[in-house]
Amino acid sequence: MATAPTIKKVPVLNPATEAVLDEVPNQSAEEVNKAVSRARKAWETWRKVPAHEKAEMLHEVSRRIKESTDDLARTLTAEGGKPLRENKDEMAWSASCFDYYAEIARNSRGRVIPSTENSQLNLVVKEPYGVVGAIVPWNYPILLMSWKLAPALAAGNTIVLKPAEQTPLSTLSFGKIFDCLPKGVVEIVTGLGETTGEALVRHPDTAVIAFTGSLETGKKISHICADMVKKCHLELGGKDAFVVCEDSDLDIAVKAVAWASFLNTGQVCTSAERVYVQKDIYKPFLEKLKAFTESLVVGDGMDPRTDVGPMIGPSYRQKVEDHVKDAVKRGARVVAGGRKPADKAKGFFYQPTVLADVDHKMSVMRDETFGPVCPVMPYRHFDDAIKYANDSIYGLGANIYTHDSRKVKKFFEEVQAGTIWINDPLTDNDAGPFGGYKATGGSRELGEEGLAEFQQAKHVHWDFEQKNKPWWYPYAPKKGSKN
Ligand code: NAD
Repeated sequence: MATAPTIKKVPVLNPATEAVLDEVPNQSAEEVNKAVSRARKAWETWRKVPAHEKAEMLHEVSRRIKESTDDLARTLTAEGGKPLRENKDEMAWSASCFDYYAEIARNSRGRVIPSTENSQLNLVVKEPYGVVGAIVPWNYPILLMSWKLAPALAAGNTIVLKPAEQTPLSTLSFGKIFDCLPKGVVEIVTGLGETTGEALVRHPDTAVIAFTGSLETGKKISHICADMVKKCHLELGGKDAFVVCEDSDLDIAVKAVAWASFLNTGQVCTSAERVYVQKDIYKPFLEKLKAFTESLVVGDGMDPRTDVGPMIGPSYRQKVEDHVKDAVKRGARVVAGGRKPADKAKGFFYQPTVLADVDHKMSVMRDETFGPVCPVMPYRHFDDAIKYANDSIYGLGANIYTHDSRKVKKFFEEVQAGTIWINDPLTDNDAGPFGGYKATGGSRELGEEGLAEFQQAKHVHWDFEQKNKPWWYPYAPKKGSKN
């Protein structure tokens, strides 16, 4: 075991005021070990709980999330900055995910496959892995945990959660909801990524690591998992494209782009971070986008008038400032925003920003910005838009606005992304898989695919007779064999 971390407590800030809300322990490898041991012990009974009983318990979790919505949402706004109404939505989506997996898990089936001999029965059964170590970021902490918790528990695993250091308070409150499950089925550890998080990844008894976060951390975690030959589920960064075709209703498309770029202050893995607008509508599109962006209210997420809250912290805001600076240096034009708001002495605010005349040499079009910046680039032919959309290491989602069905078909066939949104940006559906192509990691959450990530297949090969076979008995009897 590693030595105890030198940092004992991690302060939790309110990003709108910079006030310290509380502090949580930076838990050591020894403490992680205790949590994993409790989860491992609980797994011995949890894995055998009949599916319909697990389903009832998961519905109860959903009911309790709904009941706790107001309190959880307030804590989440205080430590995460997201406007209160958006955090209430997050609770509703989380509750719905538990209801969904309660039902599909009790309908989850293995199968009977054709046997090679008449005396045999071949079954494929689905089993849990054991203890899942789940690590999530701060932007949708309860939802991203629910997307792991609900399928992992439904499949019969137990779980140890490590929230982001910025948002542990809501997770600790959320943890109380799981008092309705047997002890040890859900454990929570708090602390920094490189201490508590890494101890969870390196623990020999975490059978799966389910990680959502940045590409950089995902690479580190997958190296450790590869060394330990441990299953690693990765949901990493994005740089989603949003293509607006000339036949779109401009007012609706502008609002959709602004929503996709500035929701949660642009701190969404599926934010529209590259907008491509057909050149004939480029100018009016920018004029309307400027007016709409400048009408958005920036403020504390607790204020019901707020459209755009603070960013989570200074290093994230610095990255946004660097991207805007680099873009302007290389010839981009600031259409709206482009700086910290002058009226905010405290808090990690940044104005919703529209950049025009950007190109793919700029970091704002290449690297994940993860902030309230909407860079817009014109395109001439639809094929160019597809080429631009695919010009990224990431492949999480992609949006298109058009009524032209030929363009839609070409877009969803050609664009390498895990979700394609047509005239409806950033929506999720519990029943549909969510995850990314390329460097976004390749794993999937939600849908049947999200359950399968936490199930392993076991092939049961059963012969009803004990035949006296020769010792060189081949894998399958050859034609004409006497066996
Ligand atoms: P991050 O990778 O820095 O942190 C995420 C989590 O990993 C935190 O809990 C952190 O404590 C932990 N961590 C950090 N270093 C670790 C280590 N060495 N070992 C174990 N755990 C470690 O991510 P971030 O920058 O805080 O979050 C934003 C990123 O998350 C963005 O890249 C965003 O696109 C991504 N994200 C992806 C999805 C998705 O579904 N694909 C969803 C939300 C966010």
